[in-house]
Amino acid sequence: MLAGTAVRVGAQRFGALAIGLPLAPLEAKVAALRNQGLVTTMVATFVGTLIAVFVSRTITHPIRALTDVATQLSQGDLDQRVSIGAGAEIGLLADTMNSMADELQNTQKKLAYDALHDGLTNLPNRTLFLDRLNHAIKKTKRVGENFFAVIFLDIDRFKLVNDSLGHAIGDLLLIEIAKRLQNCLRPGDTVARLGGDEFAMLLENITETAQVTRIADRIQEILMQPNFLEDNQIFISASIGIALSIDEDKSAEDIIRDADTAMYRAKSQGKARYEFFDPDMHAAASSLMQLEVDLRQAIENQEFIVFYQPLISLESGRIVATEALIRWQHPNRGLLTPGVFMPILEETDMIIPVGEWVLQTACTQNKSWQDAGHPELRIAVNFSARQFEISYLPDMIQNVLDETGLSPETLELEITESVAIKDREQTIEILNAIHEIGVGISLDDFGSGYSSLSYLNKYPFQKLKADRSFVMGITDDPNEAAITAAIIAMAHSLKLRVVAEGVETKEQLDLLYDQDCDEVQGYYFSRPIPAKQLAALLQNKQLIPKTEKI
Ligand code: C2E
Ligand code: MG
Ligand code: MG
Repeated sequence: MLAGTAVRVGAQRFGALAIGLPLAPLEAKVAALRNQGLVTTMVATFVGTLIAVFVSRTITHPIRALTDVATQLSQGDLDQRVSIGAGAEIGLLADTMNSMADELQNTQKKLAYDALHDGLTNLPNRTLFLDRLNHAIKKTKRVGENFFAVIFLDIDRFKLVNDSLGHAIGDLLLIEIAKRLQNCLRPGDTVARLGGDEFAMLLENITETAQVTRIADRIQEILMQPNFLEDNQIFISASIGIALSIDEDKSAEDIIRDADTAMYRAKSQGKARYEFFDPDMHAAASSLMQLEVDLRQAIENQEFIVFYQPLISLESGRIVATEALIRWQHPNRGLLTPGVFMPILEETDMIIPVGEWVLQTACTQNKSWQDAGHPELRIAVNFSARQFEISYLPDMIQNVLDETGLSPETLELEITESVAIKDREQTIEILNAIHEIGVGISLDDFGSGYSSLSYLNKYPFQKLKADRSFVMGITDDPNEAAITAAIIAMAHSLKLRVVAEGVETKEQLDLLYDQDCDEVQGYYFSRPIPAKQLAALLQNKQLIPKTEKI
């Protein structure tokens, strides 16, 4: 309290103003204040501690936990998760981080899966297959008893499906094939897609080869069942190569290559079959591969030539047609006949451009012979099954006729029985279209394959060429002669003309003449020869001397 008058004893005077405070209330106040401060401090400390505890619980710990987990996640340990109660913002942050980690983990799993599996069929891919194979190699070496087998499988003419029905159907077919192959496996075996239409299987714990052949048979059987894909009925087959692990010290890659080589052999032996690898195949395979390389260059370097072999009418004794037969002037190996390279041309699709080239060359040549005084002369050109897989074949033929000016009636297409019975409906359709152009169609090598007469009238054939194998024995074996006689009579009753191939002797010719054969072809008259030489033969119109039968 301030007062001007009441001056406390002992108080010093300084001027006029004296301050006097009643001590007791002041002390009480100070005490109260002190207490209050103490309480406040205590409360503040308590609250502070509470806040600190709260902050530590709800912020620092979680943040530390978050930081720890983030560090571990960033170090690739994607199993780590933050466990913080939901609710607070920090909890949300933790949730986000956890779901991010889930996402990362899923992505990582997917990437790992994708790296080892084929995206279309979900089968193991080449990498995983190699891994399993390496594992099997180690195991077989360790255990030392059972062996394993690698099956290499390639779908025959898969390209045809893609080309004719589109890639979407091709993909569906591959998925279906994958499913079927999985059904052929025993537990513990692996089937993988190596790429394209190539699959591989690893069969472990094999004790005898019969187990492998049984599986190979089963694969063939199960693949041959028709596929119904979006209104298409598709029939397929596979060529299979098998390599066994028996006492060999081979790498996984070597074993796959061996199985691949054996598969290639199966293809060249007529497809839809299996072959076991044997070491001799290597030499053959590498020489075949060399031939394939050379063939590709042959197209570029124009090393193909067309030879012509005359067909002689038994009515007139004159050359009425020639057959165009391809030859390859190989730079090192000399002149090669189609038997050496035709299978590769067909297998690799090179037959498509080469076949077109033969047609073009033969038609041009025949037109020039016609113009040179043989207006009726016909030309026969061979066609492979592969060429019937291109739907534009009739258009291609029409174009060649237009370009060369050759009349369609003087062109004959030769197809073998194997072409005819394959993909029946489609082949018949294409043949009918070709026939409508006016081009003649002959059934070549009749008797070398199925020798079935039942289907002959379903195709637009005008001519039947009896295979050389029929003609060969006719003069030695009366039964063979009876067969040719029957074939000729039957063909005539179906209004087909008959050509006998491979006539090499006068006796054969005489007998065929007696049997009423229409035309003959063979070394007896002429081998296949270059165009120039054939032109000379054409001048000598009468190939069968008048003095004889005709
Ligand atoms: P092919 O169409 O049956 O042709 C007849 C084959 O028999 C020819 O063999 C011919 O040289 C041979 N030959 C003819 N007369 C006789 C004979 O009296 N005795 C013997 N031993 N053989 C005879 P080449 O020229 O080697 O042709 C083989 C096959 O290759 C042909 O059989 C044909 O299927 C195919 N070919 C030939 N050229 C072509 C072509 O341009 N395109 C296609 N797709 N195939 C062709
Ligand atoms: Mg022919
Ligand atoms: Mg023939």
